[in-house]
Amino acid sequence: MKRSYLIKPMLDEDYPIIDFGKGVYLYDIEFKEYLDASSGAVTANIGHGVKEIITAMKKQAKKVSFIYRSQFTSEPAEQLAEKIAELAGGDLNWSFFVNSGSEATETAMKIAIQYWQEKGLKTKTKILSRWVSYHGITLGALSMSGHAARRERFTPLLEDFPTIHPPYCYRCPFNQTAPECGYSCAQELETAIRRIGADHIAAFIAEPVIGAAGGAISPPEDYYQLIKEICDRHQILFIADEVMTGFGRTGTMLACEHWGVTPDIVALGKGMGAGYAPIAAALVSDRVMEPIRSGSKMVMSGHTLSANPQSCAVSLAVINYLEQNNIMNLVSEKSAYLFKKLQKLKYQFPFIGDVRGLGLLIGMEFVQDHNTKTPFPRAAAFTQKVIKTAMKYGLLLYPAGAGIDGIHGDAIIISPPLTITNEEMDELIQRLTKTCQELYDSLQKGGPK
Ligand code: PMP
Repeated sequence: MKRSYLIKPMLDEDYPIIDFGKGVYLYDIEFKEYLDASSGAVTANIGHGVKEIITAMKKQAKKVSFIYRSQFTSEPAEQLAEKIAELAGGDLNWSFFVNSGSEATETAMKIAIQYWQEKGLKTKTKILSRWVSYHGITLGALSMSGHAARRERFTPLLEDFPTIHPPYCYRCPFNQTAPECGYSCAQELETAIRRIGADHIAAFIAEPVIGAAGGAISPPEDYYQLIKEICDRHQILFIADEVMTGFGRTGTMLACEHWGVTPDIVALGKGMGAGYAPIAAALVSDRVMEPIRSGSKMVMSGHTLSANPQSCAVSLAVINYLEQNNIMNLVSEKSAYLFKKLQKLKYQFPFIGDVRGLGLLIGMEFVQDHNTKTPFPRAAAFTQKVIKTAMKYGLLLYPAGAGIDGIHGDAIIISPPLTITNEEMDELIQRLTKTCQELYDSLQKGGPK
């Protein structure tokens, strides 16, 4: 490979050069085909090369791609905010557009703090989160993230926000079983609030289904209702980080809809532009906007490219495409089809410990031993071996895990474009079976080392 000055994730590694994409497939310059079973980073929700999106991009580019939000507004931005308000339900009516999921969670955090300031409660500045979570890479977002591997270099620069345990039923931190446990993991929020003092807490942030840090850890049924009730009772805002789960990934606009919970603020990203343009948002309820609107009348945040018409036009086209092709409504059916086949693999290969998730956000956790659930040591880098082996067979998977030795195992996320067909899911399973077989054979021979 010729010399490259591009800073890629691993500097010494050769990455295939992608030429083009079509539906759930990507093709590199040597015509190797990859089935995108992860939608990149759970982003390409409607697949690659969709002509309706390309047409919308061209149309907007011919008009205007950039305006500065302090000077103008635009039709795509106005229409997108209106459409999201319509789809999000409840009183989640206000959109602050940004360019990445990290900006969305960080904006959500700042709005939560500002909300309490407007109400004269200036000590409410801490954000409670969960240990095993990922809310983004910028310092504010990372401060809220329970992700050892991503934090460790920057620990002195990060806010030391308090955390509680996640609803991780496969490895329950309380050694209990739902629902008999009474949701000790949610009750822990109450304990934490009493310990820290509600006067100091602005918000609690959580991913409805824990993505990158956990591998699609979905909560037990009543968990979020309990969380919201505790937040409300203590006057703490609930921020749902729906960067990965939002925009149809779990079969609904917001994953929180599954449990009948309306958050106070939502962070959106990834599927919003479906990979065609960088766009994300902090979606804010009327309740939270009210004191800001009647108080300082501005949200103290913003980026140069916030609400740029090009990205907004793309997101509008993505929504149109989702609606016109009835895509969200078909997710649960497709999910059931894929889940069944993945569960079968679990019984075929003893190193698959758990298959879980919601909609087309499915996690697979790997273990050394089925019965004891013993994780592989971090040094074995088992997830990376899975990813690389799958890549060889033309299958793209998303690595997950927070790098916490002995506590949390290796995991991957399987999250194909929501447009995937049954035949393509069969192909996905075939390639995954080959991957698992190779890993199994290597484990039998004494790997991974
Ligand atoms: N929140 C969640 C739940 C995410 O999954 C991610 C990205 N993996 C982020 C925030 C950060 O998004 P971005 O990479 O676009 O900054």
